Amino acid sequence: MNTCEVCGNTYDRTFEVIQEGKSHIFDSFECAIHALAPVCEHCGCRVMGHGVQDEDAIFCCVHCAEESGVAGLRDRQ
Ligand SMILES: [Zn+2]
Ligand SMILES: [Zn+2]
Repeated sequence: MNTCEVCGNTYDRTFEVIQEGKSHIFDSFECAIHALAPVCEHCGCRVMGHGVQDEDAIFCCVHCAEESGVAGLRDRQ
């Protein structure tokens, strides 16, 4: 039994995600996304796919990057 670090649920099927060498325990993907997924700099939605990245900024799509004044990014195929 482990405890989800987001919602505190104690569950026998938690899973571990290692991000940047740090271990995180979750009871669901929803909690993992809540804790680990980056947020689009423009619209604020969680970036769960590849997204597009410019230096440190992450956007959910090229449209959001362009709206924030970042030109020349392409959606990864
Ligand atoms: Zn949870
Ligand atoms: Zn966005």
